[in-house]
Formats: sequence, structure tokens, C-alpha cells
Amino acid sequence: MFDLTSKVALVTGGSRGIGRATVEALAEQGAHVVFTYSVAAGEAEAVVAGVRARGGTAEAAQLDVRDTTASEGLIAEVAKRLGRLDVLVANAGIARDGLWVQMKDEALDETLAVNVRGALACARAALRPMMKARRGRIIFVSSVVGEMGNAGQTAYAASKAALLGAAKALAREYAKRNVTVNAVTPGFVDTDMTRDLPQPVKDAMLGAVPLGRTATAREIAAPIAFLASDEAAYVTGAVLRINGGMLT
Ligand code: NAP
Repeated sequence: MFDLTSKVALVTGGSRGIGRATVEALAEQGAHVVFTYSVAAGEAEAVVAGVRARGGTAEAAQLDVRDTTASEGLIAEVAKRLGRLDVLVANAGIARDGLWVQMKDEALDETLAVNVRGALACARAALRPMMKARRGRIIFVSSVVGEMGNAGQTAYAASKAALLGAAKALAREYAKRNVTVNAVTPGFVDTDMTRDLPQPVKDAMLGAVPLGRTATAREIAAPIAFLASDEAAYVTGAVLRINGGMLT
């Protein structure tokens, strides 16, 4: 089950955290994975080497998803060169936290440019080869914060909620082409994004998690690999909660 042999997957933000674990999980299932990084070239090289050492195949490409022309160019090039694009995981994301009354427009704009416009431009580009092939899987990495909100994360919450609406709209729009579009909403995951949070904030967040711990990135990647598989063919427009019981 969940065999991805001969499939081509593209993961944005695959150099670290959830994206990296997703690259590894998809490659383990047999996919050839192209992933992007924005600045972490060293980490990206290490991911490629790790995948190869375990018998898989992966390649890294530099991409700032705010540059939608570059995103479209990369995705078109990958689909053309490899002859197919089966899976897009729109994972690249940032959080610019702070009290809303003090938040500058620039921080909101940057959050939306990466998390929403960047993800949607990648989806638009991926849909072209997927529509032609009449098969495809698009998975947006949203967040529990997009569903329940979080004080100090208004811009981030708005961006992640936007992805849920987009996933549902795209699911309806491309169902006839056999392209499924889903979102995952991870809870509190142990990555660079959360590692530097002040301890009282971490304690408060963990107190709200019935399982009483953070998720590993791999625990987010495994359900993503399921959504990418043939076995998930009847799942579309869904929001898959992976939050340790924080929101049910
Ligand atoms: P992370 O460790 O900070 O990694 C972020 C990834 O996104 C990196 O690969 C980074 O590339 C890439 N990236 C950042 N800005 C980019 C840009 N402008 N263009 C292209 N790539 C860019 O984050 P993470 O915790 O794994 O989060 C991954 C996704 O999960 C995000 O969408 C996040 O919102 C979501 N999420 C995280 C949590 C959590 O608790 N950690 C919970 C729910 C949802 P570089 O390495 O080159 O900088």
C-alpha cells in the first residue's frame, strides 16, 4: 500500500522540518522527489544525500515561492524533463508573529506572499500537467492555527485558513480531471519554526495537546504520503487534522 514507485513528486520547502520529512517519506515509498529550498543550500544537499543513501532519488532546486514566475518555470521544467508530475506538496511557509495592533503591513504581505500566493501559484502550475495526464495529487500544508486561531498569530492564521478554502475550491474545480486537492493541519510540530518559541508559550501550547507532546515531522509526513498515494483516490476537499487531539 501507498507505493509511489515511478511517480514524480514536488515538495516546496523540503530542506528542513516537515518538508524534509515529507521528501524522505515520499522517496521511501518509491517516488522521485524534486524539492525546493529558499536559502538553506547545505541542508538541501544533505537531504539529497540522505535519500540517496537509503536507495531513493531526490533532487533539490533553489526557489523563493514569492517569485511566482520562477515557481511556474520550475514546475513546468520538472514536468517536461521527467515527463510527469503526480504530486505537489505545497509546504513552504513562514510565521511572522506579534500582536496584531503592532503588526506592520510588510509582515502581513510577506506572510501572504509565501504562504498563500506562493502555494497557490505552485498549485496553478502543477495543475497544467496534472490536468493533461488526468491524474494528480495536491496537498497544502496548512495548520491547526488556521482552524482555531492563536493569539499573536493573526497573519499566520489568516494565511493558513486561506489554504483551506483554496483546497476545497480546487477540489471541486479539478475533480473531473481526477486531481485531488487536500490540506493537512498539523498541530505543534518539533521543527525550527517552533524550537525557538519562549518556554512559557511552548508550555501553554503543550498543555492544550491531549497527547501531551509535540509531533515529530515524520508524523506529519506519513499522512501526507497517504494523501499522495493511489489509495487516497476518493479523498478530496478534505482537511486532515494531525494535532494530537488539540482540536477535534
Ligand atoms: P521550517 O522548519 O521553518 O521550514 C520551512 C521551509 O520553508 C524551509 O524549507 C524553507 O526553506 C522554506 N521556505 C521558507 N520561506 C520560503 C520562501 N519564501 N520560498 C520558498 N521556500 C521557503 O518550517 P516547518 O515547521 O517545517 O513548517 C513547514 C510548513 O508546515 C509551513 O507551511 C508551516 O506553516 C506548517 N506548519 C508547521 C507547524 C509546526 O509546528 N512547525 C505546525 C503547523 C503547520 P529554507 O530552508 O531554504 O529557508
